[in-house]
Amino acid sequence: MTSAELPEFPVPGDVGEILITSEQIQARVAELGHQIASDLAGEVPLLVGILKGSALFTADLMRAVTGPVEIDFMAVSSYGDATKSSGIVRIVKDLDAPVAGRHVILVEDIVDTGLTLRYLLEHLSAQGPASLRTCALLIREERTSREVEVDYVGFAVPDAFVIGYGLDVAQRYRNLPYIATYTGPT
Ligand code: 5GP
Repeated sequence: MTSAELPEFPVPGDVGEILITSEQIQARVAELGHQIASDLAGEVPLLVGILKGSALFTADLMRAVTGPVEIDFMAVSSYGDATKSSGIVRIVKDLDAPVAGRHVILVEDIVDTGLTLRYLLEHLSAQGPASLRTCALLIREERTSREVEVDYVGFAVPDAFVIGYGLDVAQRYRNLPYIATYTGPT
């Protein structure tokens, strides 16, 4: 198939405003990586990415940590309405190795209510990590109270459904290099 025959991507009408460009993401990820390396100098941070949304962010963040670092992943599924967080989370994939004594940073794609992250924090803190921090690529700017404190924040975004750089709509558009509003069919 030549490129001329490829269907148009993204599908026309699906992507609204580009809120954060690829360059802005990479610059901020580099800053966060340096910050984590300096906050945990002398330690080996364990980045715990929450699949699937934070897979791209976690990989880039790991590359940006200028020192020893490890990664692991957890996968969760939320009960109830897919568009509204219930805070009741089922762990679909747990960590490969115990986190007791480790300096853990939970890495989320977007924190909205914070209910998902709070559940995971409680789950991991019960295992006795040496420290437990949170990192989110995105938080909602309108939300003044969240269930959790986010220690490392990439960007604040408005109250619109966003896609790209790991964030999906029905599993699509995770591969967009930027963060944009979704304006396609729901
Ligand atoms: P919370 O539990 O903080 O309310 O919701 C966080 C989860 O909801 C995120 O990990 C993500 O899976 C999903 N989510 C919330 N807002 C958005 C959004 O604008 N776009 C996408 N793709 N997922 C979102």
